[in-house]
Amino acid sequence: MDKHNAWKKFTWEPRIAYFSMEIGISAEIPTYSGGLGILAGDTIKSAADLDLPMVAVTLIHRKGYFRQQIDPQGWQREFPVEWSPEKYLELLPVKALVTVEGRDVKIQPWLYRVKSPAGGVVPVLLLDTDIPGNAEDDRHLTDYLYGGDLEYRLKQEIILGIGGARILSALNFNIRKYHMNEGHAAMLTLDLLSNTRGRVDDPLEERASWDTHRVMEQCVFTTHTPVEAGHDKFPWDMVERILPEIVPFSLLRDLAGRESFNLTLLALNLSNFVNGVAKKHGEISKSMFPGFKIHAITNGIHSFTWTSPFFVQLYNKYLPGWANEPELLVRVDNIPDEEIWDAHSGAKAFLFLYIEETTGQRLDPDLLTIGFARRSATYKRADLILSDLDRLLHLGEGRLQLIFAGKSHPRDLPGKEMIHRIYEKIEHLKGKISVVYLENYNMDVAYRLIPGVDLWLNTPVRPLEASGTSGMKAAINGVPNFSVLDGWWIEGHIEGVTGWSIGPPPRENSTIVNGDNHEDAQDLYHKLENVILPLYTENRAGWIQVMKNAIGKNAYYFNTHVMMRRYVTEAYIR
Ligand SMILES: *Cc1c(COP(=O)(O)O)cnc(C)c1O
Repeated sequence: MDKHNAWKKFTWEPRIAYFSMEIGISAEIPTYSGGLGILAGDTIKSAADLDLPMVAVTLIHRKGYFRQQIDPQGWQREFPVEWSPEKYLELLPVKALVTVEGRDVKIQPWLYRVKSPAGGVVPVLLLDTDIPGNAEDDRHLTDYLYGGDLEYRLKQEIILGIGGARILSALNFNIRKYHMNEGHAAMLTLDLLSNTRGRVDDPLEERASWDTHRVMEQCVFTTHTPVEAGHDKFPWDMVERILPEIVPFSLLRDLAGRESFNLTLLALNLSNFVNGVAKKHGEISKSMFPGFKIHAITNGIHSFTWTSPFFVQLYNKYLPGWANEPELLVRVDNIPDEEIWDAHSGAKAFLFLYIEETTGQRLDPDLLTIGFARRSATYKRADLILSDLDRLLHLGEGRLQLIFAGKSHPRDLPGKEMIHRIYEKIEHLKGKISVVYLENYNMDVAYRLIPGVDLWLNTPVRPLEASGTSGMKAAINGVPNFSVLDGWWIEGHIEGVTGWSIGPPPRENSTIVNGDNHEDAQDLYHKLENVILPLYTENRAGWIQVMKNAIGKNAYYFNTHVMMRRYVTEAYIR
């Protein structure tokens, strides 16, 4: 086979087509914004390790998400990330066509191969409209992840869904299931529906001739968030102007909602298997979408990707085979305490060096170091631990230090104000408690930051953290979680054993948003002062046992290998 046809080996066997608006494979390919994209990348890596037949589809995002700088007053500034697809990807010699706003738009895919050391390979197709012959505006449709206005988003989702399905056909892929990672890709169902056409001959049965059941059998849908703004909806007049009528709009109104074109509803109506991303989130989704059967498969992380080199070495020595069988971490107690502590101290020193190089700030390796990093959305309450500075100073001066990181979406003003507020408080604590805010949180920063802190903090408003995955990255590096009981932590938490909770337990079947800042902050300070700091400073053996439990009781299970085996048995092979 010549080089240009080498990709054809991917099209021989029936595959799972995994569609995601963002995919985070490595920091050099900046086609992700946060948890959703990194989950997609980790999913694909585990599929490659497990040699599962999968092909992934996303957009090329030539300008990335954005690079974050923060000015001295604490205001975020955004810059495009320029990167060179040619350096990492191979342009495939096929094109597909979609109609957008009445114009033909050509789409061409780039290929990236996710290769496992175990031998498996998963092709990732990154769709590009920057092709000569396309109208100037259309050439920029695959530039900015979550950029532009609502029309831009609709057009991108047409490219991803309809364009992605057509590219797979153009490449002769044989697809057994289409997995929509969030509703962004839901329009792939329209291409599938239009292909079912013609099975019924009677013209009077016009509507019956669209075989929705055939499409449902092919589709799996994972919904990712209880936050309303996370579910794309478009006004019908915009849709009728921009979307080609490959399926009658009257039928689409039945499938995607009368008030607006709701992609979550479209995906729900056309998937035989629907799931949330943690047990609690499955329940929440059931009450958000009554009438649908909703399963739960808890998210994970790709263990090897997120384990610091210090722990990789340790696991290789004591638990060989762990990377492709993370269940082996259950035997972590075979590792001597000193070696766990040494590995952690290495990761901590590595982080502190990075902080000194990037910020000039020097942290004290002997102090309890608390990390908090995630997208700066207000429901994540990054500033909860800073809500009572007198209390924090009283319990923590000379005993602890804090490291923050996180980007706010460019149009999320409250998220930006939260970063600004944190900067003001950092100023207030200066000289008493060291606080670092690391700029431009991305996969590289996370890889250094998470393993290098002693305690991983998470304080979302319940029940808005659907799963959360950074806490799992902490656990596999022996960093215990200190978190509100929401998302995956409801399943991973054993008080004082795997880490600690903040605030009250989750209420049964409750969808009521509960972020009692005062109650949660009181509990946070109380436990920090009376349980966590004393254990860390006075009982090193006890602390190391919690570290080991994070590994042996959290990380062995909350990973994408376990998650993918569940997707295969519960969703893909049905
Ligand atoms: C893991 C990760 C996230 C997701 O973390 P959550 O805990 O789910 O919010 C976001 N951004 C980066 C860079 C990450 O590595």
